[in-house]
Amino acid sequence: MTHDTRDPRPALDSSTAAGSSTAADSLLELATALDASDPLGAHLDAFAPAPGVTAYLDGNSLGRPLRDIPERLAAFARDDWGTRLIRSWDEQWMALPMALGDRIGALTLGAAAGQTVVADSTSVLIYKLMRAALAHDPSRAELVIETGNFPTDRFLAEGVAAETGATIRWIEPDPVLGVQVADVGAVVSERTALVSLSHVDYRSGALADMPAITAAAHDAGALMMWDLCHSAGVVPMQLDEWGVDLAVGCTYKYLNGGPGSPAFAYLRRSLQGVLRQPIQGWWSAADIFAMGPEYVPAGDIRQLLSGTPPVTSMLAMQGMLDLIEQATIDAVRAKSESLTDLAVRAHDELLAPLGVRLLSPRDAALRGGHVTIGHPDFRAVTQRLWADGIVPDFRFPDGIRLGLSPLSTSFVETVTGVIAVRDALESHER
Ligand SMILES: *Cc1c(COP(=O)(O)O)cnc(C)c1O
Repeated sequence: MTHDTRDPRPALDSSTAAGSSTAADSLLELATALDASDPLGAHLDAFAPAPGVTAYLDGNSLGRPLRDIPERLAAFARDDWGTRLIRSWDEQWMALPMALGDRIGALTLGAAAGQTVVADSTSVLIYKLMRAALAHDPSRAELVIETGNFPTDRFLAEGVAAETGATIRWIEPDPVLGVQVADVGAVVSERTALVSLSHVDYRSGALADMPAITAAAHDAGALMMWDLCHSAGVVPMQLDEWGVDLAVGCTYKYLNGGPGSPAFAYLRRSLQGVLRQPIQGWWSAADIFAMGPEYVPAGDIRQLLSGTPPVTSMLAMQGMLDLIEQATIDAVRAKSESLTDLAVRAHDELLAPLGVRLLSPRDAALRGGHVTIGHPDFRAVTQRLWADGIVPDFRFPDGIRLGLSPLSTSFVETVTGVIAVRDALESHER
């Protein structure tokens, strides 16, 4: 499988005004037809309208709110909190981190109940799990990560290595295709404690081969942790079946939990009570209300909690989980592949002639839910687009990510966004 960062097609006359509007028109026609036959199209209306926004292409960073969020928040303030008051802890909130974890596990992760919990932020959960994994076997003191991983993952690894005396083994993957099994095979050994990677690369959108890489880590006797921030809710997976040990992910991206909604962590059942996480607050104790003299960790998934969970921040994601349950994660993935295929095609026809490079894998099976394109003028172009109500995001040094959240994004919106990128680029050049 090769990738190209150049346009494979000869430069067409589509850079002329007449040619490009023809290409844009036929892409819009195609998008209209795809929307008309989209089995998930009816769900678009579940999201709150955003006045002034014509194309929201950043659902991979911050998912849109559902239409009923104001009512859900008001009911919470009025009833669960306002009327039931502290009784709500017993009635529902105590169990919420585990109950929501089980739903996320069942609907999106391929995880049986009792192995997923909602808590903290992704960064804090990565810290807890990395520390737990490195304390597990003193004969193993190496941590494998990659240079292209999201900054928080790399920074946390450096901090954990400094605290524990562990050595980091860096993988330098292909920037477009991401980490391959052979890259992992080349660095793991009997000294490896943990391999920690992202399932979908936050920049290129490359989708890692989770079962094969997990198996390669296990062949060396290491534990395997996956960061699922850019795949939870858009790429189906089978954590149980694939033998994954540990995983963390965001709920404010494709799970639409709202800004700062807490993260989730997965800990395989056979490791519960075996690994010890370092922030052993009272919520992780065997008996929360025993108020005993010393700490005894809970034997189940609750051992990953630390303190009082952020209940208010766990409200919005519940409606999105209902929606994913109705739609099914496999149908979400099918639409996601069609959306990213259309974005790649629109790039080829409208943007490549202007010197834009495709920075994501060309094969949909090797991509997650976003497509990244590059051009030196994209920082200025993004500012212009945001002002015009077209909202993708910019990633240093010169990438625009087109994040296509399948339940809230239409095909026409996708093409409209790419046409706007072309128009902004052309007027910027003038
Ligand atoms: C978004 C993202 C994070 C964010 O971590 P927070 O603690 O929620 O800020 C971490 N890792 C990856 C791969 C991400 O994409």
